Amino acid sequence: MINRSIRLRFAPSPTGPLHIGGVRTALYSFLFAKKHGGDFLLRIEDTDQTRFVPGAEEYIIESLNWCGIKIDEGVSVGGKHAPYRQSERKELGIYLKYALELIATGHAYYAFDTADELDQARKEAESSGSSFSYNAQTRTKMRNSLSLPANEVELLLKEQAYVIRLKVDAGEEIVFTDLIRGVVKFNSNVVDDKVLLKSDGMPTYHLAHIVDDYLMEITHAVRGEEWLPSAPAHILIYRYLGWLDKMPEYGHLPLLLKPDGNGKLSKRDGDRLGFPVFPLQWKDPVSGEISTGYREKGYEPDAFVNMLALLGWNPGTEQEIFNMHELIELFSFDHVHKAGAKFNPEKALWFNKQYVQHLPTATLAKKLKAQIIEVLHLDSNSGILDQIYLESAIELIKPRIHFTSELYSTAPYLFTAPENYDRQIIEKRWKPALKPFFEQFLNDLEHLTNFDNTSIENCFKQTVVAMQLKPGDVLPLLRVALSGQGSGVDLFGMMALLNKDTVKKRITKFLNEINTHF
Ligand code: GLU
Repeated sequence: MINRSIRLRFAPSPTGPLHIGGVRTALYSFLFAKKHGGDFLLRIEDTDQTRFVPGAEEYIIESLNWCGIKIDEGVSVGGKHAPYRQSERKELGIYLKYALELIATGHAYYAFDTADELDQARKEAESSGSSFSYNAQTRTKMRNSLSLPANEVELLLKEQAYVIRLKVDAGEEIVFTDLIRGVVKFNSNVVDDKVLLKSDGMPTYHLAHIVDDYLMEITHAVRGEEWLPSAPAHILIYRYLGWLDKMPEYGHLPLLLKPDGNGKLSKRDGDRLGFPVFPLQWKDPVSGEISTGYREKGYEPDAFVNMLALLGWNPGTEQEIFNMHELIELFSFDHVHKAGAKFNPEKALWFNKQYVQHLPTATLAKKLKAQIIEVLHLDSNSGILDQIYLESAIELIKPRIHFTSELYSTAPYLFTAPENYDRQIIEKRWKPALKPFFEQFLNDLEHLTNFDNTSIENCFKQTVVAMQLKPGDVLPLLRVALSGQGSGVDLFGMMALLNKDTVKKRITKFLNEINTHF
């Protein structure tokens, strides 16, 4: 382990909404940093101006905040290595300086090839059945400061657009230990002469992230596995700059996979199977298209974070519910799986359900109250907004919901009498011969002194026996009479909550309607 203060960065490019895979990368980096008493930084990698999307940076910051991933240093909070936006760092000449240093030490060179010339080289390679790579073999045939005479190079530098390329020496062994994959070996023959500085003066990711990780004293660079093929080039850059002793440990995270099949989890999978792939809602600034987010779907941020943490990691036990504090305590890269993690939308729902069940009753009652007021336009003195009534309703409703947004809609009949009855159940179950049962039950209820679940249930059973029926003959109808629906919250608990008077009124009304319509 590196013997310096631990610093990890999340370094997204502001090219659109943050995919949940990106949030997971940020989360793992944050957990590791916090576990080791270190810092978590946010750097915005906006060097590709063609892919810049307005609003994306704000979206990233809001997403991290929502998840409780606290930024210690970086964009939005500042810090001693500011600025943290690469476009602003470029203005300070930070990247150019190191590109020129690589040229001076013979590890980089100027290349003048136009887009057409590169295209031509690609086509020629293809026609002979291979693919073009700008490297030790091909660079001599291209137009660059290694292949052209010095005076021509001098002239071209003044007159023509150019890039700076890394000069990869052939036949070098490149070995590094990945935080997740262990020892990884490459030969430099598979590495091309990557562009370090583009013709617009902007650095590429390859140069920029290395310069920044070095200057920002990053100790561990965790990123998506799509960067693994570029890792050998990055290690060579560290080597050529003489920074190998300060090179962060790299970790390449496997992909999040679609629930069905093996490909990468995409927005299309989310649309197709009905779940979000973004933490927050995103409105595309060009098309206006809206993509939903976990927050807007009603997920608790803790549940979302818990679910995400377990997509590709577990502490080696069966435990599944962890708060952020526990995640920090238990997290290590040793237990991050090497294979891609299949996203499971049902499991995401399950996690939210677990969290909703454990929210304090008073919190849920407050949300329920707001929903009732909104839907029923009640004034706040209404009896059903009584705190004890609300909290008892919560106990009935809670086992049936995945989201707090479903509190009211799960059992509206606890707050307002049903206006319609489930016709299918009535048509299937109702017989005029059952009417005496309901009349007798009304009568028996009247004599109950304690109107609680158990007393009501006992009363029901006794009436059923006395009338020589089975509970199943009348239970569904009783539920329809009280709630209008064929299924719902615990029936006797609901009756106790509604109280004797309301229960009697609803059964009486039901019998009247049944008389007229059936
Ligand atoms: N800007 C890069 C990306 O969004 C960051 C990769 C890294 O973390 O180094 O993929």
